[in-house]
Amino acid sequence: MKNQNPNSADEDSPRTWGRRQFLAAGATMLAAPLLSGVTAHAQSRETGAPAPASSPSPSPLRSENGPYPTEGMAGYSETGPLQLLKFQRRALGAKDVAIKIHYCGVCHSDIHTIHGDWGKIQYPQIVGHELGGEVVAVGSSVSKFNVGSRVGVGTMVDSCRHCPECLRGAENYCENGNTQTYASKDRDGTITQGGYSKFIVVDEDFVLKIPDSIDLAEVGPMLCAGITCYSPLRHWSVAPGKKVAVLGLGGLGHLAVQLATAMGAQVTVITTSPDKSKDAQRFGAKDVLINQSGVDFSKYKRAFDFILDTIPYQHDLDRFIPLLRRDATLCRVGVGKLTTPNEYGQMTTVLNRTALAGSNTGGIRETQDMLEFCALQKIKPQITKIPMDGINDAWSKVIAKQARYRFVMDMGMRG
Ligand SMILES: [Zn+2]
Ligand SMILES: [Zn+2]
Repeated sequence: MKNQNPNSADEDSPRTWGRRQFLAAGATMLAAPLLSGVTAHAQSRETGAPAPASSPSPSPLRSENGPYPTEGMAGYSETGPLQLLKFQRRALGAKDVAIKIHYCGVCHSDIHTIHGDWGKIQYPQIVGHELGGEVVAVGSSVSKFNVGSRVGVGTMVDSCRHCPECLRGAENYCENGNTQTYASKDRDGTITQGGYSKFIVVDEDFVLKIPDSIDLAEVGPMLCAGITCYSPLRHWSVAPGKKVAVLGLGGLGHLAVQLATAMGAQVTVITTSPDKSKDAQRFGAKDVLINQSGVDFSKYKRAFDFILDTIPYQHDLDRFIPLLRRDATLCRVGVGKLTTPNEYGQMTTVLNRTALAGSNTGGIRETQDMLEFCALQKIKPQITKIPMDGINDAWSKVIAKQARYRFVMDMGMRG
């Protein structure tokens, strides 16, 4: 896994950047035969020679095809600190784009995964599935992206493409299991390594276009936390006139409040942190309930049309399900340790025909819709940038509920 060449492709080397800079500079660089493949291609464009039909984007240079040496922060055990790992990204396939990662959001799922809360994994493992970056090379049949495109990658990098779920655009529910951005078996048999790193190669079908008005540093959290909230809010038809409660005001919750408010709902935040009240209102909440032991919620009995539960650990569901109106749903999107199951009373859902549900991220098409919606509604996460080597400190703060509201690793920031 380790490579001997620390001169990673993500540095500003001519090897990586030559072509992009060349294209940006246009024909003025023709006289400088930086890389012969580029020059030949540009000349054919200048002379109007037809490009190969199968290649809407220019073919990448042979020297840019990888495999690409890079580095990231990896977990080496369930409990130890994350440490630098040098490794390689796969060579560019025909439909692949190579992405220089500028930013990666820090999600609670990353911590659960390394800690083994969701099952045993192989180490070393690099996590991170909230990537924002820039395309630096494209495969020969890539049609959606060019060198220089601003892009994002969320929780998935592949799926079977032929099951009913994939065909309807719900790759997140692929019947054959999608390939997750990290800790998942890739098509070549290797285990995927995530976004706490400087470079990645991904099939273009699993790459998102970032609207111009969205900052690359802020896009990452939308690609996991954002879509995880957006998809159930849409599925359960949150709209004007609906009363929605958001449980937990963390990375997911603070986006959920903004999204539900933008969809026209009246939002109540239920949080254990009294100091988050003002923030909740700033994000759009009309009411804030502080969830501390002994606090009486009976006033809110049957008050909500939908409850989005973002709490990423086991908690008492009997406290919240009675707050639903008849036929309404409490949907969990936060997940804690798999060894601590959900528990709720035998009668809790029966009394008002309420439902307990769950939801897992969203499909690629829906994620692109969510990005457009956020751009239009000016919804964005509240982030704190950290350097790569600040990750262990950031994780401690996430666990101590001190994140306000998403840490984002900035690959260019010095620690
Ligand atoms: Zn996540
Ligand atoms: Zn599938």
